[in-house]
Amino acid sequence: QFPFGRRLPCDIYWHGVSFHDNDIFSGQVNKFPGMTEMVRKITLSRAVRTMQDLFPLEYNFYPRSWILPEEFPLFVAEVRMMKDSDPSWKPTFIVKPDGGCQGDGIYLIKDPSDIRFTGSIQSRPAVVQEYICKPLLVDKLKFDIRLYVLLKSLEPLEIYIAKDGLSRFCTEPYQEPTLKNLHQVFMHLTNYSLNIHSGNFIHSDNVNTGSKRTFSSILCRLSSRGADVKKLWSDIISLVIKTIIALTPELKVYYQSDIPAGKPGPTCFQILGFDILLMKNLKPMLLEVNANPSMRIEHEQELSPGVFENVPSPVDEEVKVAVIRDTLRLVDPQKKKRKDTQYNYLMSCRCQPLEHVSEANEELLDAGPADRAENDAGKSLEAGLPSLCLKQVFPKYAKQFNYLRLVDRVAALFIRFLGVKGTTKLGPTGFRTFIRNCKLSNSNFSMAAVDILYIDITRRWNSMGIDHKESGMCLQAFVEAFFCLAQKKYKSLPLHEQVGSLIEFCEYHLAALDEKRLGCGRG
Ligand code: ADP
Repeated sequence: QFPFGRRLPCDIYWHGVSFHDNDIFSGQVNKFPGMTEMVRKITLSRAVRTMQDLFPLEYNFYPRSWILPEEFPLFVAEVRMMKDSDPSWKPTFIVKPDGGCQGDGIYLIKDPSDIRFTGSIQSRPAVVQEYICKPLLVDKLKFDIRLYVLLKSLEPLEIYIAKDGLSRFCTEPYQEPTLKNLHQVFMHLTNYSLNIHSGNFIHSDNVNTGSKRTFSSILCRLSSRGADVKKLWSDIISLVIKTIIALTPELKVYYQSDIPAGKPGPTCFQILGFDILLMKNLKPMLLEVNANPSMRIEHEQELSPGVFENVPSPVDEEVKVAVIRDTLRLVDPQKKKRKDTQYNYLMSCRCQPLEHVSEANEELLDAGPADRAENDAGKSLEAGLPSLCLKQVFPKYAKQFNYLRLVDRVAALFIRFLGVKGTTKLGPTGFRTFIRNCKLSNSNFSMAAVDILYIDITRRWNSMGIDHKESGMCLQAFVEAFFCLAQKKYKSLPLHEQVGSLIEFCEYHLAALDEKRLGCGRG
């Protein structure tokens, strides 16, 4: 620990909470700038909603959500409309304070009028979400899954998922919500931090029983019941990749602001905790993402009244030690150096006719990074370590998901026009330049109309009180403006095609401009 900072540069900086390394120029940091902000309940819901607008079917793994207090009228109106169209619909909603954790301040309601607007909730924004009433039960209990995901790099996008996770159980048998049982947290909320206080919580030495178990033990149970476990895993992988695709555009804005391109700085990686609920039909639903998942491998035990001791928790140890060990193996700076040396050697081999390249080298070229790491493990310093528990899923499955990365491309346009590095918001001049350079203004859309669009959208986003530190247009506001322009220009297409077409239009004009400038430079 270096509470007062460390003067000599490190290979890896491992923080407990968040990124604050604007003053280091090399190495790798275990947190991304802006990640804590991005996974807050409101920001995550917004980012996922943008993707739901574009790809409703692909993003139906996140419950319908509304942001309070600003969307309360919309919440009331939409619920009324849905109830009118289907009178048999008897929904339950869950209210979760923004920035809360461990079940803090969460409650269930049957009707929008039950939202508690008194006291602190008014000053505390929240998300209200459709409650998943029919979760999969094991031993009659509701449970959720904590999966560990390594975001190894943002650009290019590299994602790894741990092969095993934790299942955290409720401690009261589950019943579908009724007015009578809505308040029973041990029945409805799976948080470990809550259920540990229930008399029914079972600490287990065995990973297959108790109130916290390995996810693999659940999969074994499901598989023996005849469930399609392979499909379940593929749905989970897809949920993780899509969620990260929803987060990357804004993360890139934070990244360029803290670590400007072209200046020396560290690179980042981060272990995220995904909380997932399985529905009765085995569909995985995303509950939330934790930027700072607990890595504790002990739990407190009350030896005698009031006397507590930390004792090892075999379930936590089994899952978490492997996650940290393999994260370090994947970001190992020595390996990076070895890889660079291998790369140089391979490049020199490539200059020779192909038949001179040995089979082993060809294999190395073909293998994905995960396999490559395993290759290394077999050969070198890592000999004797278990095989990697972290499996690469992106870019491995990139082909299936790249079509979803539209907002990423909108963010690239936004970042291009941010101008002065170190900011996260676009000024009016930047917005005008974007319109001009992309040739979006015409007789139907004057520059005066451009200014009005900028002012309208920016004012509304800034009045939501997300970030008052900087003035100007945030990425989400820019995305809204971009969608507006796309709808105007390509009227009859579905939204994702409108947006896709406008992106291509802008990218085409910017490439032409760059070409022209390059030509001028040469001239
Ligand atoms: P926190 O950060 O406070 O843990 P979560 O979003 O994880 O907040 O919610 C706490 C718990 O509430 C979850 O672990 C889950 O058991 C339950 N829960 C949350 N959202 C839903 C939902 N939409 N449907 C059913 N259960 C939910």
